[in-house]
Amino acid sequence: MAAPAEQLSVVVLGGGTVGTQVVRLLDEQADDLAARVGARLVVTGVGVRDVARERPGIRPELITDDLDGLLDSDPDLVVELMGGIEPARATILRALGGGAAVVTANKALIATDGAALHRAAEQAGVDLYYEAAVAGAIPLLRPLRESLAGDRIRRVLGIVNGTTNYILTQMDATGSSFAEALAAAQQLGYAEADPTADIDGLDAAAKAAILASLAFHTRVTFDDVSVEGIRAVTAEDITAAREMGFDIKLLAIAERIGSNGTTGVCVRVHPTLVPRTHPLAGVRDAFNAVFIEADAAGQVMFYGRGAGGVPTASAVLGDVVAAARNRIAGSTGPRDSSYAELPILPIGSASTGYFVHLRVLDQPGVLASVAGVFAEHGASIRSMTQKGEGDQAELLILTHPGRESDLAATVAGLRRLARVDEVIGVMRVIGEGQ
Ligand code: NAP
Repeated sequence: MAAPAEQLSVVVLGGGTVGTQVVRLLDEQADDLAARVGARLVVTGVGVRDVARERPGIRPELITDDLDGLLDSDPDLVVELMGGIEPARATILRALGGGAAVVTANKALIATDGAALHRAAEQAGVDLYYEAAVAGAIPLLRPLRESLAGDRIRRVLGIVNGTTNYILTQMDATGSSFAEALAAAQQLGYAEADPTADIDGLDAAAKAAILASLAFHTRVTFDDVSVEGIRAVTAEDITAAREMGFDIKLLAIAERIGSNGTTGVCVRVHPTLVPRTHPLAGVRDAFNAVFIEADAAGQVMFYGRGAGGVPTASAVLGDVVAAARNRIAGSTGPRDSSYAELPILPIGSASTGYFVHLRVLDQPGVLASVAGVFAEHGASIRSMTQKGEGDQAELLILTHPGRESDLAATVAGLRRLARVDEVIGVMRVIGEGQ
């Protein structure tokens, strides 16, 4: 392999789970990467907080806590792998302003302040890439931005958080409670000591905002996403879902909908009943998958590892190679577009099916009064199954898709009904045609 004469300097900010692997792979694959890019990628510094910490695979002389000094060195590429909002935002803005291309895996920052970062990249005429921010190793953002750019996307359904998918899979496979499954996930390192961002759906919401922005050419931020996590999912919910042929998944859903004559985008994250025949039901453990429905392409699914240092580093390196190639060519890659500027619609305007699980007093007329509440709010029942007898009678009800707000009003009405002992669970359902 002939060594290219040119070289590009790369500064990596963050030497943790992902940063360490990125630096290691840049070093180990230096010759191949040089041949692919047409220039050697030379890591000139790795910015961290604690310079005393052992970081196997990173030459100690590269490590520094002087982030300003690294940016002053005028690098060609800056790879931000610190996470969080600050100092990541200020450093990225400074790097872009100084003319460096930036690669980041920072979903929280892109979902909160992506517009400002994109503006800064545009003004400076440099690339800003963030493939690793959603679904780790899975090539997803580039296909959305480029390969599907000629199509019209209707809906994106994603299992984009491995921790919650692992917990729900465990609950299904072993019958364990949410707390037991969470403890197992923590023991295996799938869940953090503070699992809030994962189990309350916040991590998935940031990714949903990024996916929606790309799919619908509209800026969607974290605050636009309705979020419900999996804390309230019980072993009883999982059993009831299974009996009806469904798995429960935490889905990030972004869809184009028409409501009162307006076309808009509705983005949400919530536990969802997915038919066992749907490709997303087969996505188990900590795997991620994103299912896209487009007018011309039909259904497309992306599947793979959504986290972990090495898989995520693969996506980061893909971006580094793309940005480096563009730099050699004196160009930039395709930019995100937000020309459509569709309005963001509230979850109440979405159409969805509901699963309602009730404990009822087994008296004559109870079915009629329950059905009456559905009818009163214009919600249409698809199936109703009764389990048990006497005080223990349970009703498992599936509705046809209807307006979310009508179904929410139905559930409120059921809670007020004297013959309904308890609303055991309420969950949204996706179907093949919904
Ligand atoms: P991590 O293990 O916590 O590493 C963060 C690194 O950034 C550490 O080396 C830390 O330094 C450094 N850092 C943090 N704040 C800093 C500051 N103020 N100044 C200087 N250095 C600072 O995080 P990670 O898991 O590698 O994640 C990095 C990014 O990738 C995040 O945006 C995350 O969302 C994203 N991501 C991660 C995964 C994954 O599987 N881990 C998957 C997809 C995306 P010290 O080591 O000195 O503390």
